[in-house]
Amino acid sequence: MVRRLSVVDPERCVGCQMCMFACTRRFSLGGFGRSTILVKSVGGVERGFVVVVCRACDEPAPCVRVCPTDALVSREGKGVKLVRDKCIGCGKCVEACPIGAVFWDEESGKPAICVYCGYCADYCEYGVIKLEEV
Ligand code: SF4
Ligand code: SF4
Repeated sequence: MVRRLSVVDPERCVGCQMCMFACTRRFSLGGFGRSTILVKSVGGVERGFVVVVCRACDEPAPCVRVCPTDALVSREGKGVKLVRDKCIGCGKCVEACPIGAVFWDEESGKPAICVYCGYCADYCEYGVIKLEEV
């Protein structure tokens, strides 16, 4: 069973960023510095928000293709996994993702990518994001 996060109804997003706080909370941290999901305004609150999170591309995903050390590997079915020990922190994956879903962990100097756990979706009260089987 392959799962990925889907942005099912962005129109309902109120920009509370609870999903971002929840994602960082996985590391027992406050704030959203370790979040692998991003909510941002599309230009004024009245125009709404966009939610950026890994879409679990078909393999080989753009981010996987550019990694020079095979630190990003295809997950079975769809999406990616980071093999942290192999990562040299070059940042090519960040540039390669067409939707900007490879974030950067400043502390480790390595990318941060959604692990498709669905924790954030449990905190979205508005049904904007959902973990789905693909
Ligand atoms: S991080 Fe970007 S390029 Fe890589 S699988 Fe996710 S959406 Fe695709
Ligand atoms: S930053 Fe790490 S995972 Fe990303 S392309 Fe470079 S070596 Fe690969």
